[in-house]
Amino acid sequence: LSDKLNSAFKKLKGRGTLTEKNIEEGLKQVRMALLEADVNYRVAKKVISDIKERALGQEVMDSLTPGQQVIKIVFDEFTRMMGDSHKGLNLEGRKPAAVMLVGLQGSGKTTTAGKLGLYLRKKGKKPFLVPVDVYRPAAIDQLKKIGKQLDLPVFPSTTDMEPLAICEQAVAMGREKGYDTLILDTAGRLHVDEALMAELQGIRKGVHPSEILLVADAMTGQDAVNIAGSFDETVGLDGIVLTKMDGDARGGAALSIKAVTGKPLKFIGMGEKSTDLEPFHPERMASRILGMGDTLSFIEKAQEAVDIKGAEALEKKLRKNQFTLEDFRDQMASVKKMGSIKDLIGMLPGVNTKQLKDMNIDEREFVRIEAIINSMTPDERRNHGIIKSSRKKRIAKGSGVTVQDVNKLLKSYTQTMKMVKKFNKGGMRSLKNMLPF
Ligand code: GDP
Ligand code: MG
Repeated sequence: LSDKLNSAFKKLKGRGTLTEKNIEEGLKQVRMALLEADVNYRVAKKVISDIKERALGQEVMDSLTPGQQVIKIVFDEFTRMMGDSHKGLNLEGRKPAAVMLVGLQGSGKTTTAGKLGLYLRKKGKKPFLVPVDVYRPAAIDQLKKIGKQLDLPVFPSTTDMEPLAICEQAVAMGREKGYDTLILDTAGRLHVDEALMAELQGIRKGVHPSEILLVADAMTGQDAVNIAGSFDETVGLDGIVLTKMDGDARGGAALSIKAVTGKPLKFIGMGEKSTDLEPFHPERMASRILGMGDTLSFIEKAQEAVDIKGAEALEKKLRKNQFTLEDFRDQMASVKKMGSIKDLIGMLPGVNTKQLKDMNIDEREFVRIEAIINSMTPDERRNHGIIKSSRKKRIAKGSGVTVQDVNKLLKSYTQTMKMVKKFNKGGMRSLKNMLPF
């Protein structure tokens, strides 16, 4: 996906205003990209026409190329479409409040019930898990097991009980025991069907949940629109939880579901464990759908300070492993303007952020680092291997720091080198090529 977009945007070089022609060209590719991300085709069509309208005749800002400008417009439009940032759950009203989870079988309702239980307890609530899927004995056991693991109370449902009766009794029991939030784990089917919808409507009328959340699998693709539409029309939705976003799904379903229901995306499921629940962030999802990782933020920051020629020269040195302490110092000075080097490297696509954790570069130490490197002889800067203990002492004295500080700097530098070597082995593309323009 991102390759396609990149090639599309590369074509949009030059300055001036965005013309129909260069927008059209770029948008044709964006459209294909959207379909590839499994955004519903009707939704994709609408997105494209909105973007076109916005883009046409726009002045290209001085600091941007037309390609960058279009990326920004596409990104902003995605973000806008997916709505506000996380608002949490609305649990106002009479107690106990109920959060009702609905969705197809296998979408992740039961798992999400446990996740929300944990989330709510962290918020100081007293959640009560309620198994309402009486059609499969295993479903009740599954939630009971989760309750046991998390030490959360579970209503003692059995397969011979009516779903609505379970919910009503759970409300009474919750009130009696002081549980303030019920989490109703309802039954799902493989397909949307009338009997299921009628059952869910009955529960809705019977217990008036504060939140009815559709739990949808991010891998659902084109069907997501129909599923979300049916649940919203028949049961009525207050929000969406998109599960299995830890997988390959680009998140096109988020855009589709939001466009069709207009209901807020509240959480995303990022794994099978109870802690794998995250609040929904529209910008993050937008950049995921675009398939650019955090490249967008990189553009924004880089725009402010980077000069491509300098980056090219640097990259050549990196590739040849000729990146000296002198280059390290010069780079620091320009990187300072862009924020920490750690953040910056972390934004490049394909970089393992875990590796970065070991890298100790503190921005506040720039001045000190510069002083230390300035106190070295040219030989030392070009060949750090010769800096043994007597030289370290001299350098420390010259720059007014301790030997430990000198060691720390040399460590940061060698760690950076190590990382760079790893990139090189993996066939690091030039810094410039990493930028999608
Ligand atoms: P339900 O039928 O809607 O109750 O779905 P379940 O909660 O039983 O989940 C179905 C399967 O999806 C289980 O194997 C879960 O472990 C898995 N699952 C649920 N949520 C996630 C998620 O966010 N990420 C991943 N990778 N798996 C999930
Ligand atoms: Mg279930």
